[in-house]
Amino acid sequence: MDFSVADPAARHVVVIGAGLGGLAAAIRLRHRGYRVTLLERHAHPGGRCGLWESEGFRFDTGPTLLLMVDYLRALFEEVGRPMEEYLDLVQLDPNYRVHYADGTTLDVTSRLNAMLEGVERVEPGVGPRFLQFLAATAQLYRIGLDGFVDRNVHRRGDFFSPRNAGLLLRARAMERLQRMVGRYFRSEKLRHTFSFQSLYLGLSPFESPAIYSLLPYTEVAGGLYFPKGGMHALPRALARLAEELGVTIRYGADVTRLERTGTKVSAVILADGSRLSPDLVLANADLPYVYHTLLGEPHPRIDRFDFSCSAFLLYLGVNRRYSHLPHHTLVVPADLRTACEDIFSRHRVPADPAYYICVPSRTDPSLAPPGCENVYVLVPVPSQARGREINWQVEGPRLETAMLERLERFGLTDLRRHVVTSRTFTPADFTLDFSATRGEAFGLAHGIDQVGYFRPHNRHPRYGNLYFVGQSTHPGCGIPMVLISSRLVVERMAEEQAVRL
Ligand SMILES: Cc1cc2nc3c(=O)[nH]c(=O)nc-3n(C[C@H](O)[C@H](O)[C@H](O)COP(=O)(O)OP(=O)(O)OC[C@H]3O[C@@H](n4cnc5c(N)ncnc54)[C@H](O)[C@@H]3O)c2cc1C
Repeated sequence: MDFSVADPAARHVVVIGAGLGGLAAAIRLRHRGYRVTLLERHAHPGGRCGLWESEGFRFDTGPTLLLMVDYLRALFEEVGRPMEEYLDLVQLDPNYRVHYADGTTLDVTSRLNAMLEGVERVEPGVGPRFLQFLAATAQLYRIGLDGFVDRNVHRRGDFFSPRNAGLLLRARAMERLQRMVGRYFRSEKLRHTFSFQSLYLGLSPFESPAIYSLLPYTEVAGGLYFPKGGMHALPRALARLAEELGVTIRYGADVTRLERTGTKVSAVILADGSRLSPDLVLANADLPYVYHTLLGEPHPRIDRFDFSCSAFLLYLGVNRRYSHLPHHTLVVPADLRTACEDIFSRHRVPADPAYYICVPSRTDPSLAPPGCENVYVLVPVPSQARGREINWQVEGPRLETAMLERLERFGLTDLRRHVVTSRTFTPADFTLDFSATRGEAFGLAHGIDQVGYFRPHNRHPRYGNLYFVGQSTHPGCGIPMVLISSRLVVERMAEEQAVRL
């Protein structure tokens, strides 16, 4: 056996996919000296963090909430570049406005005094309990990040340690989220306000474990940010940094197959018939699709996996302003539990759904023509359950009409008369554009049986030079999570490939 240390500079890595995870990993690999080629099937970077431009309006197509910015900053710091030279981040205040069915509202903000006043208006006397909730969720945040999220856990011992078990038990991290928020808040409104965030992971707040209460903590404690120019400025900035460091990015490069020889991926085949033979392959394309389509060997657990929910998206360019709307608004229906059961149990579009409105031109007017506004609406909907698939060619136009009427009733007066340009994006589009196996928006689900050691690991068990980064591998979905995913997989690659057998 030759234990000589491999020189990274002599090693070629092909990264498949320029989503945020793929871009961040390419940057980190290049910084360590690897030769990196990044292949992206679309004409632009970002994956789900995409851009749609029409009639002078610019729409972010996917993520809109930028949380835990320290993980973004850490990427720039790692390669010795100031983030400010690439991104202009603005902290929002309020973070977002919650609208309840009875017409009342709560502004969620990172200014503690204003937050206390706000929750007291909803539930008089709740102030001290709200502070206790923040303290408890701060602890869950530390336990979650240090113990399970911000480290590689593919070795059993790293995940199932007595220390981790003790921490989880002491913090009651595995109890039901609703039970946990119920200990701090008597009003249903506040229980919803501090638990709906599990929907960010495509998980029902009524089925979620308490550990995910770390999400509302990150919002209040860490704040919410917005990059000037829109969320798509993030992948643009990362693509620029990657190219400056020497990553070769090829757009319009659709990978169709991974050839194997023995226990290695020996070639990456593109749709135009060309082939690359790198030393290492890092797949940012969604993991179940890589197994199923690029390897032609479906993941052994594919039929047992739970997938996250999906999203119906409506992008509306309007030739007037709705100045009463803040940047982010969450609309909670009268019966959130039924709406969630419709999505996650009955696999149908809720009759009275929760939805979310984003008006980024509120913060950056350059995103819409003068006097106009770009309105982004997200409705959580089911992913495609097998045998109970929704026909989105029929359901899409129906839901679009229903949502436009609903938005007008909500206060976007005469909306339909003012739409200059519009587009919808449905679960069927998630499959077409991003090869989402069940049309899901947020990757594999994040139930406790599908995270950490139980989530598909970031290296293929048989093909030792095939690694994974992004939302369907460890640790999971969301911008901060895929940035963490990139650091963890690169650390693992460097560790494992440093010794050439
Ligand atoms: C509607 C929506 C709203 C969201 N909101 C938020 C939010 O507010 N805040 C937040 O933090 N997160 C949010 N998320 C989650 C977040 O956007 C994702 O977790 C993250 O962007 C996923 O990044 P990724 O690296 O896993 O890859 P993806 O974005 O899935 O990118 C994968 C890339 O691989 C490419 N690819 C696939 N197959 C091939 C192939 N065969 N050949 C070449 N290239 C290929 C794709 O084109 C794509 O560019 C949201 C997601 C969605 C969908």
